[in-house]
Amino acid sequence: MRQCLGCNEHKPKIELVRILRTPEGEITLDLTGKKSGRGAYLCKDPACLKKLRRSRRAEANLGVAIPEEVWDALEAAMAEEN
Ligand SMILES: [Zn+2]
Repeated sequence: MRQCLGCNEHKPKIELVRILRTPEGEITLDLTGKKSGRGAYLCKDPACLKKLRRSRRAEANLGVAIPEEVWDALEAAMAEEN
């Protein structure tokens, strides 16, 4: 179980997406949960995405700025799921 940084609920990893900081310090999306690096978890829910984007908790958690295009890609990925 992992905690969503948007709604603070604990959910199975499979229900979450991961914003990943690679060992090279790049920010990317990990939709499969299989890449290595430090991750911030988030429900596949646009409401959680909005909260997290506003709260900046992912930045605090990962220790780096998250590029706009990563947020946009997350939004697009969630729109596709629904
Ligand atoms: Zn959530």
